[in-house]
Amino acid sequence: MKSGQISHTVPDRIDAEADVVVIGAGACGLVAALRAKAAGAEVIVLERDPSPSGSTSMSSGFIPAPATRFQRGIGTEGDTPQRFEADIMAKSKGKSAASLARLATQTIGPALEWLADRHGLEWIVLDDFLYPGHSRHRMHAVPEKTGVALEARLLAAVEAAEIPVVTEAHATTLYAEESGRISAVEISRPDGAREVLGCKALVLGCNGFGGNAALVRQHIPEIADGLYYGHQGNTGDALAWGETLGARVDHLSGYQGHGSLAHPHGILISWALMMEGGIQVNADGMRFSNEHGGYSEQAVNVLAQPGGVAWNIYDARLHAFAQGFPDYQEAMAAGAVREAGDVAELARFTGLPVAALVSTLTQIAAYQSGEAADPFGRDFAGKPALVAPFHAVKVTGALFHTQGGLMIDDQARVVRDDGTEFANLFAGGGAACGVSGPDVSGYLSGNGLLTAIGFGFVAGHAAGTSVVSG
Ligand SMILES: Cc1cc2nc3c(=O)[nH]c(=O)nc-3n(C[C@H](O)[C@H](O)[C@H](O)COP(=O)(O)OP(=O)(O)OC[C@H]3O[C@@H](n4cnc5c(N)ncnc54)[C@H](O)[C@@H]3O)c2cc1C
Repeated sequence: MKSGQISHTVPDRIDAEADVVVIGAGACGLVAALRAKAAGAEVIVLERDPSPSGSTSMSSGFIPAPATRFQRGIGTEGDTPQRFEADIMAKSKGKSAASLARLATQTIGPALEWLADRHGLEWIVLDDFLYPGHSRHRMHAVPEKTGVALEARLLAAVEAAEIPVVTEAHATTLYAEESGRISAVEISRPDGAREVLGCKALVLGCNGFGGNAALVRQHIPEIADGLYYGHQGNTGDALAWGETLGARVDHLSGYQGHGSLAHPHGILISWALMMEGGIQVNADGMRFSNEHGGYSEQAVNVLAQPGGVAWNIYDARLHAFAQGFPDYQEAMAAGAVREAGDVAELARFTGLPVAALVSTLTQIAAYQSGEAADPFGRDFAGKPALVAPFHAVKVTGALFHTQGGLMIDDQARVVRDDGTEFANLFAGGGAACGVSGPDVSGYLSGNGLLTAIGFGFVAGHAAGTSVVSG
């Protein structure tokens, strides 16, 4: 069954109805559903998979939020939505959609506090390292520090709120009146059966187009030959619906890349390793970039190296630090992390030229002591020098998720090309335009879940109140 279709006919039947239908059971859809229900609406969530997971489950689950009581609880001072917004705009060199950056940064703190107060989600704040571009420790996570646990906790909240999540329900067609009002959603079942759900409002929480190779090649050719490491079911249906309806779309070339995916294991190796002193070298044993620029743009830098791979090199201090990340534990169990007693052994098992490795490590020591300046512009001061024994992981660059999508207003209502809003169509998360601008380098760590939870929070409330207030 072809998806992403719009029908301007009246549905031949309505099998069920809800005030608010939400498409997608990732972070955006689940938060939107909780908010719409809290506003008094009857809500149904549609999810194409047999068991909801989405990119949310694949994520590290780190959500940046300023000025929450959880952040204050660890003693972080001086963070505000305005400061966070400035960090977002600085990372994208001012190219993020300003209205969306403001909406996201003002909403995410209240969203996390609401999820805690109303639905019992617990948040911790990570304060042992700063991701590139964040001026304050503001990464929140559930105590397990995984996306799997975040998704599970949101699903448990949705279940407790008695919101049905209909799985194996692939939304294929939206029924739209001439005015653009959405009246129903058609779903396709695995056996080919079709069902039609009437709705008064529709929230698109079905992420972007990372799982659609043709669209990736069309809009983001620079990463089309890289691995897609997001949820395969995110095939761009929101974009297709929006474009057919005449919605404004923006920043389709923007995306979250990552330059540290263990290869060939396909396990995320936290960028915290680089921030705390690790380096990346290519097959020639040479550094090729400022690793503190950001992990997103590093996807392209790594793919440009011989064989499209690099080695993360670090030491026992950082190996111990990284074990606090569940992904890293997984990488260790999979045999992706190697240990070497000295540079000669490091060269042997990585296959890197020993002379180049020695030279690279010598240069790093000079940058660290201030005897020389890194030609790539990285500031090595303040972190201890790398010392034997060494650790190494072979990594590649990947596309994690797309950042472009449907433009929304401050109620998360989808906006047309002419600036007018659709009456009852809302979007958030990867379905909406993000806050990273049009370039891979514009992605500030956490921009993904920021807009999934932040815009889902706004969309669900606006959709719910719009149907309840009539
Ligand atoms: C490895 C990795 C690590 C990451 N780490 C972080 C992080 O630490 N912090 C951060 O902020 N971001 C991170 N991200 C990005 C983050 O995961 C996403 O931005 C976020 O999960 C998007 O949420 P969403 O609800 O929009 O989409 P998803 O969680 O992908 O949910 C979309 C759902 O919609 C369903 N769907 C799609 N089309 C249809 C359809 N037609 N009908 C029915 N259902 C449909 C999908 O099956 C899916 O379940 C990471 C991403 C990856 C891949």
